[in-house]
Amino acid sequence: MKIFYTCEYCGDHIDTLEVDQVDETKFGFDCLTAQERQDIIKTDVEQNAIHVKSLCDFCITSMGLDDNVSLGMPAINKGYIH
Ligand SMILES: [Zn+2]
Repeated sequence: MKIFYTCEYCGDHIDTLEVDQVDETKFGFDCLTAQERQDIIKTDVEQNAIHVKSLCDFCITSMGLDDNVSLGMPAINKGYIH
């Protein structure tokens, strides 16, 4: 299964992960409310893919959110800060 991260703000493709199984805890999905999950996670069963809205480094930096960004994958929760 592939996980596509797209920047919610500028629409840029951020990253693609290929995983055998989605570990919701690892990806931070377990922290989301049901509503948030609906908003940012789109599962594409036919393509065997998941599309996740996030923010790219550029937008995180331009919004001044970079202080709290952990290394590695973009923090999904950052996508809700508007
Ligand atoms: Zn962006």
